[in-house]
Amino acid sequence: MFTSSQSYYQSVASVQAQADANNAKAKAVEAQAQVEVLRQDVDRLLMISEALWSFLKKEHGYTDDQLAEKVTEIDLRDGQLDGRTTQAPAAPCPQCGRVNAARRPRCIYCGTPLPVTLFAS
Ligand SMILES: [Zn+2]
Repeated sequence: MFTSSQSYYQSVASVQAQADANNAKAKAVEAQAQVEVLRQDVDRLLMISEALWSFLKKEHGYTDDQLAEKVTEIDLRDGQLDGRTTQAPAAPCPQCGRVNAARRPRCIYCGTPLPVTLFAS
């Protein structure tokens, strides 16, 4: 029972604030779960990279210094040594000519499969 309209509105605001807090908490939990999935993906990819690198060293005689040089060369392709690759440029659809974001498997306008680009450059 509310003794005044002010306490009623305070109660409504409190309920809304609690709902907002619960919603934010649920989103944080979901984001944390997504981060964990990505972390597992990164760990798996690092293991695969390490396995492949060990094959290349053993079977073809490449050295860690050569790998480091190549990583630096790739990093510098965009002019910045920042530990990041260049984003692939947006590309026009071969069917309709409209521009699609890089790395899309199909044109978002007409559905035509887009050429596959494995790496940014
Ligand atoms: Zn298209």
